[in-house]
This record gives sequence, C-alpha cells and structure tokens, in this order.
Amino acid sequence: MTAPLNDDNRPLPPALEARGLSRSFSVGGGLFRQDKELRAVDDINLSVQRGESLGIVGESGSGKTTLSRMMLGLMQPTQGEIRIDGRGIASIDRHELARKIQPIFQDPYSSLNPRKTIGQIIRLPLEAHGVGTGKDRNAAVEQIMAQVGLPPRLQHSYPSQLSGGQRQRVAIARALVVKPEILICDEPTSALDVSVQAQILNLLKDLRAAFNLTYIFITHDLGVLHYMADRVAVMYMGRIVELGPTSDILKAPRHPYAQALLGSILTPDPHLNLPDLDLAQGFPDPLNPPAGCAFHPRCAKARDICSTRAPQAARAQDHLIACHLYPPEAHP
Ligand code: SF4
Repeated sequence: MTAPLNDDNRPLPPALEARGLSRSFSVGGGLFRQDKELRAVDDINLSVQRGESLGIVGESGSGKTTLSRMMLGLMQPTQGEIRIDGRGIASIDRHELARKIQPIFQDPYSSLNPRKTIGQIIRLPLEAHGVGTGKDRNAAVEQIMAQVGLPPRLQHSYPSQLSGGQRQRVAIARALVVKPEILICDEPTSALDVSVQAQILNLLKDLRAAFNLTYIFITHDLGVLHYMADRVAVMYMGRIVELGPTSDILKAPRHPYAQALLGSILTPDPHLNLPDLDLAQGFPDPLNPPAGCAFHPRCAKARDICSTRAPQAARAQDHLIACHLYPPEAHP
C-alpha cells in the first residue's frame, strides 16, 4: 500500500511503525540456577499505512500478544521502538495515545464493568480523557451507539442483559468514542457465535471505511484474515518470517513455516482455530531457542547453514521473507 500524501504532496509517515522492536523477559531459573532470557519479540520491523489493515498470524507463543501490548503502549520494548504518525510512542502522553490507538479484545464480557450501564461504559473514556462538556459527551455516546448499531434504549441496560454480539458492539463503541486512528483487534470475533461473527466483521469493515481507520488484526481464523486484512505478517518465535499481500500469502506462502501453518488451516471450515502443526518436532522451548533459524529443527527444507546462521529478512517484490532459501541476491 503506497503512503497517502499530505497537503504538500509529501508522503505522510506510516500510521504505525515498529523499528528493531524486541522484548525479552527474565525467567527465574530456580534455586542455584541463573535466570534465563525469553525473547518474546525479536527485532521486528514493520510499517502500516493509514487506512490499511494488517493481519498477524502465528501459533501460541509466537509473540503476537507481546507485540500488540507494545503497540498499545502497555509494555515497554527492551530494544527498538514503536512510532505512531512518525513519533516515538514514548514521547506521546497517555491521553493523546489513547486517542490514537485503542484495543478490541476477544472477550467483550470480561472487559465490560458489570456494574455500569452501557451508556456509562461508553461515556467513561470521554470523561477519563476530559473530552467535551457533559452535553457533548451525551451526544457523542448517542452518535457512536447509532454508528455501531446499538439501539438508544440499551444505554440504560447492563452488560449481562446483552447478547455476545451486542457486547462486542459496546466494546467497539467504547474504543471508537474517543475517535482513535488505529484499532488493535485481538481475535475480536472468536468468542462469538458463528452467526454473529459475520455481522461484527461487516461492522468493523464499514467503520474502517467510514473513519479511515488503521487495523492490526490478530487472528487464528483464515476466513477473517482473508476478509479483513490487506497484508499478513506470519510470526514464529518472536520474528516475522513472511509478510506480504493477504491474497498472495493465503494462496502461495513461500516461507516453509508459513506453508506449514497455512497449509494446516486450509480446511473446509474457515472458523477452525490453528491445529497442532504436522511437523517433525513440536514447538521449541522458548527458553532454549534453536541456534540459527529458529524453525530449522522442524523444517523439511533445512540446510547446513540453517542451524548456524539466522536468516535476515529479504525483500521479494512486495513480500518480506526471512529464510535462507530466499537470499536477497536471488530476487529480481
Ligand atoms: Fe527452513 Fe532454513 Fe528457511 Fe529456516 S532458513 S525456514 S530452516 S530453509
């Protein structure tokens, strides 16, 4: 996706960028043993343009959640930085940050206060960030409820009185009421009935177009990726191993891990979660990651170099691939 231009015909900075982003955790080694380092996110570089939707897919433990928490400013990177609209996230104060980027989580019920009415829940971010007068806030709540398809009478209801789909609409309204530019959607439909999932996805798609929103879509669901994401990043053990246009990656993934992952979920039911991969070995111990390419013990195409040297990401037209089968000089 090409960068949109400003009034002087200059490219605008990406809506969101990760530069050399890493996050490690120190994990206790127990009595008489040294702590070990767990690299949950390891040297990630990506940029997302305004109005673009980037899907992120990978097995559990691939680093998706840690990456999204850093994007939301909820966790500090160990190295590198996140930039929003060209500014380092660390230099953006928390009120401004909340008005730039908001999350939508998998389970709306656990994120809604059961003792507050729907009107109070949606109004709370406006109060927390001192947006407008009381009258402005009432108007904003009414307007966003209409935009997400919630009838005005539900303002006085409690979360327990709503269906799962209505609760997710409340969570979306609460995120959007402060007019953010970016939504981090973490499996936003996986806790919903199949019949409701499509309605919420359609709503998110319509809202993206209406407000020129930028989405980061974390999902295990191929159907959701196909429907919602312009590009897909495939993560393995904290790294992006392949990144490219959704249609290309779903049709013909190139990285051996992306091939195994996406091949395993090409089932007739697009809503199935990721099954265990049919690979030579299970997911490695993140505290003792394999040397070289972290995927090499499971990779049928591994060569000698794969166990000693980690591949660097190489650009192949509009793909990025980190694999020794795709060295930079091999690309046109
Ligand atoms: Fe397989 Fe080697 Fe590529 Fe890693 S670098 S995915 S081990 S071929």
